Parts: sequence; C-alpha cells; structure tokens
Amino acid sequence: MAARARHLDDTDALAPARELFTLNDGVVYLDGNSLGALPAHVPGRIGDVITRQWGELGIRSWGESGWWTAPERVGDRIAPLVGAERGTVVVADSTSVNVFKALVAGTRLVGEERDEILVDATTFPTDGYIAQSAARLTGKRLVAVEPADVAARVGPRTAVALVNHVDFRTGRLHDLPGTTRAVRAAGAIAVWDLCHSAGALPVGLGEHGVDLAVGCTYKFLNGGPGSPAFLYVAPRHQGVFDSPLPGWNSHADPFAMAPAYAAADGVLRGRVGTPDILSLLAADAALDVWDHEAVSIGAVRAKSLALTDFFLECVEAYAPAGRVASITPAAHAQRGSQVALRCSRAPAVMEALIARGVVGDLRRPDILRFGFTPLYVGFADAERAARVLAGVLAEGPA
Ligand SMILES: *Cc1c(COP(=O)(O)O)cnc(C)c1O
Repeated sequence: MAARARHLDDTDALAPARELFTLNDGVVYLDGNSLGALPAHVPGRIGDVITRQWGELGIRSWGESGWWTAPERVGDRIAPLVGAERGTVVVADSTSVNVFKALVAGTRLVGEERDEILVDATTFPTDGYIAQSAARLTGKRLVAVEPADVAARVGPRTAVALVNHVDFRTGRLHDLPGTTRAVRAAGAIAVWDLCHSAGALPVGLGEHGVDLAVGCTYKFLNGGPGSPAFLYVAPRHQGVFDSPLPGWNSHADPFAMAPAYAAADGVLRGRVGTPDILSLLAADAALDVWDHEAVSIGAVRAKSLALTDFFLECVEAYAPAGRVASITPAAHAQRGSQVALRCSRAPAVMEALIARGVVGDLRRPDILRFGFTPLYVGFADAERAARVLAGVLAEGPA
C-alpha cells in the first residue's frame, strides 16, 4: 500500500497545490471538512489589511480598498466553484443566519396557501433549529423528511424544502439535481446547504435550477475560523427576494439613511449589516489557491474520490477485522469528501489518533470522521492515517 501511495502521489496533478498551504510537519490533517488549513499567503495579506488598509487608510478603505463591495466581489469568486453565475452569490454573516434568510425569504416567494416547510431529517443541527424557528415565525408546519424522500413527499402544500447537500455525519452526497427538479415541479422552493460540498465537488447551482443556497467558507474553502458564509439567490428570484433581515447594507441607497426600507437590486439584498472585513478578506485571500493552474473543482473531485477509495482500501487491508465499519456510501455518486467509520470506543480512538499526528474528529457517540481535502492531503497521508488507525485499534481493548 505504501508503494502505491508513493506512486499515486507522484502522478497526482494536484500535488503542486500542497505547496500553497502551511502544513505542520508530522501531522496528517484530515479535518479540513471542519476547518480548512491555512493557505501560506494569507497571513501576509491580512497583515496588509490591518496595517495599511486599516492602520494607514482608515475609513477611506471602505471605498479605496474595496471593503464596501467585498461581499459581492468575494461572492463572484465563489460563484464558479458552485456553478453559479456572476451576481448570484453574496458573502455575509454565518451559515446559520443565511439559512434563516433563505427559509423565510423562500416562504415569501410562494403563495400563502403553502403551509409546510420540509427539512432534512438528518440535517446539521443548526439548520434544524433555525427551520423550527422560521416555521413558528411564518406560521408553517415543519416536517422532517429523509433527503432521499423529499422528491416523493413534496407537494402543493410545501413552501420550502431545506436539504444538506452532503450529510455531515456519514459523508453521504444527496441527489441535488433530482430533488431540486421535484421540488420545483411541485411549485416549492429548493434551499440547499452546501457547507460540505462547496470547494469539494461540482455543485451546478445554475445548471440544476436551484432556488436558494447557503454554504460555509471555512471548511473546503479554507477561509479561516468563523469566516463569513455565502448566500445564493437564483437570478429569477432576485427581483422579489424579500429578506427577513433587511439591514442598511441591503438598502438601495444606504447612505441616504432613510427611515423607510427600499431593497437594493440583485443578490446584495442578502446583506444585513456591516461586513466583518478581516474574516471576509481572509476568505478572499484564501480563494487565490483556486487561481493556481493545476487547481479546478473537477480535479479536486477526481482526487477526492481517489483518496477516499484509497483510504477505505488501506483501512480494509490494515485494520483488525470487525473493529471499524464505513458508513460512507461506496458509490461515488453518493459520496462527499469524507469517510466516516463507526467504531466502538470512538472517543478514545480519536484521542489516540490525534496524539499520534492523525487529526480527524469525532461525532458522538461512535463515529470517527476523516475529511479528505485534495488540495493539501495526499495518498501517503491517507495510507499513514489508516496505518496509525490500525495500530491504535490493534493495541486497544476490544
Ligand atoms: C458547518 C455547518 C454549518 C455551520 O453553520 P455556522 O453558522 O457556520 O456555525 C451549518 N450547516 C452545515 C450543514 C454545516 O456542515
């Protein structure tokens, strides 16, 4: 397996991208699905934002350094990574907040008679909590549905369906084209949470006719801890998108300081208040890695599947029989960019892995999660992770 790993690394077209990141010697970082690694040039860029743009130019930077328009400008850089056209993505606030905007605005895009919101029954918790509150505020009934059943369940009473593109626990990739088609055919609004797919695989928001979407920039887009999230509004909805959080930043004339709200044109209707410039510009700088000639979302997807296949093969070859079981789908069409292994004593096993330089994470009670980020994780890393895991499993009490 080790020789094969070396061969795969030697022939890896994405290998040069690794040089763009600051990686710690001796550590295999398999947690980029939670917090992406640091691109090496980001500290210098943020240093400039702080010392020159803020320190020297001060308030002039809102115009001269492009701070005011950064949410749309950075959105336009994310757009091609999720298959969206220019002017459809804005970067602002957290994913949680954007889920709220999308859900409530989604209900306002359809008729009052539609009285239910469908929510992914396996969703990342924050989406579920926000959907509950959005349902209470809008007077709709919240119905939890397995993602695979949304297409069959959606109907004339559905206002909005909110689905996670990739399950954060199992790494299962859901059917975005088919589900979106069914939701739209029923006259409802499809809202996708792309936290675990943006920057990991082709999404095709425009091609598949998605209505609204949200996603993280600090996972596969490496924007840094707490970097702001993005909101996608399909062009056909932009003229009527009615945000439940209409702040002065989404006003048609913010500096008129008018008492009455009038929404701006376009996706900047998704903005609320003053952008968090330091985090936003860290995410902006991090997106430069996508400008490297070897880097494309197609290349990332191809390597991601090869890496997760190879890791599973190594686990199968090395781990004591019966100690771990993958709950990540074997079929490529149903796999995101992580491998989740069910394992007894998972907390102690993950602790031992981290102590030995293999950084994954734990989803209680019994899931070991390994994120594969093709820009900076290689095949030798996957082989080593599986080998160290096997060693930990072999030593521990059953
Ligand atoms: C990571 C993640 C979030 C995080 O939301 P925050 O508001 O950034 O904390 C939301 N949804 C999904 C599906 C996620 O994976």
